[in-house]
Amino acid sequence: MIDRYAVIGNPVSHSKSPWIHAEFARATGQDIEYRPIEAPLDGFGRALEAFRSERGRGANVTLPFKEEAFRYCSEVSQRARLAQAVNTLILDAAGTAGENTDGSGLLRDLSVNLGREVRGQRVLLMGAGGAARGVLGPLAEAGAAQIVIANRTVAKATELARRLPGAPLEACGFEALAGRAFDLVINATSAGLQGETSLLPQGIFRNGALAYEMVYGRDTAFLAFARACGVASCDGTGMLVEQAADSFFLWRGVRPQTAPVIAALRAG
Ligand code: NAP
Repeated sequence: MIDRYAVIGNPVSHSKSPWIHAEFARATGQDIEYRPIEAPLDGFGRALEAFRSERGRGANVTLPFKEEAFRYCSEVSQRARLAQAVNTLILDAAGTAGENTDGSGLLRDLSVNLGREVRGQRVLLMGAGGAARGVLGPLAEAGAAQIVIANRTVAKATELARRLPGAPLEACGFEALAGRAFDLVINATSAGLQGETSLLPQGIFRNGALAYEMVYGRDTAFLAFARACGVASCDGTGMLVEQAADSFFLWRGVRPQTAPVIAALRAG
C-alpha cells in the first residue's frame, strides 16, 4: 500500500505543498501520495488521528495549527522545542515526532541559493510569531553577530529573546529601529499580506544588505521598500521549497533537488 502524506491547515486550499511534494516524489522515484487536509479550527487532533488510521506516515502543518501540533507530539526536536511550533510530523505506531524545518529551509535558501553567509552578519528579524520563532535558533547557530527581533507587540519579542540566553539577541518595537542598520533584514511578519506600508525607517539597510521577505509569490510593501532603498531582495519561495525538501528527507531518507522546483514556482 502507498505511503500517505498531507499538509494540515485551515485554510489549506492555497497551499503549494501538494504540488511541491508531487514534484519531489516524481524526481526521486518515490511512490507516495500527498494531499491537503483542511481541519476544523477545533479539530486538529481528530483530523490527524483519522489521517494516521488511513496509513498516514507524515504531515506538514501550517497556520493555525503549528503550536497545537507541537503540544500534540510525543517527541520533538530541540529546534521545535525552542520554537514551540512544528511544521513536520512523523507518524508511526510509537507516536508522533515533531520537527520544525522553517529555520533550516531559510538558512539553506540563504547560503546555497542566494550565496549569503549569516556568520558575522547583523540581522534584523521582523516579527515574533511562529515563523520568527522557527528561524531564530538556526540564525543564532549560524553565527549571526547580532540579531534584533522587532515586533509590533514588543512583549512577544522580549519573550522570544529570553528563550536563547547567551545569544547576541535584542528585542524592541519598530519605532526603536531609527538610526540602526543591518546586513540582513528578514520580514517574518504577515503585515505585507494586508498591503500596509513598510514598518521600517530609512537607513535600515547597510551597504550590500539583503532584504528577505518570507511571504512568497506576492509583491509586498517590504519588497517595495527594499527596491526603493536600492538593496537586493527576494521572497520566500526558496525557503518554502527548502523547508519542504527537509520534510521530504525526514520522511523518505532522500533529499530532492530544489532548484528546478523553485524555478518552476517562480515562473508561475
Ligand atoms: P503569525 O504566527 O500569525 O505571526 C504574525 C506576525 O506578524 C506577528 O509577529 C505579528 O505581530 C506580525 N504582524 C501581523 N500583522 C501586522 C501588522 N499589521 N503590523 C505589524 N506586524 C504585524 O504568522 P507566522 O506563522 O509567523 O507567519 C508570518 C509570515 O511568514 C506569513 O506571511 C507566512 O506566510 C510566512 N511564512 C513563510 C514561510 C516560507 O516557507 N516562505 C514559512 C513560514 C511562514 P504581533 O505579534 O504584534 O501580532
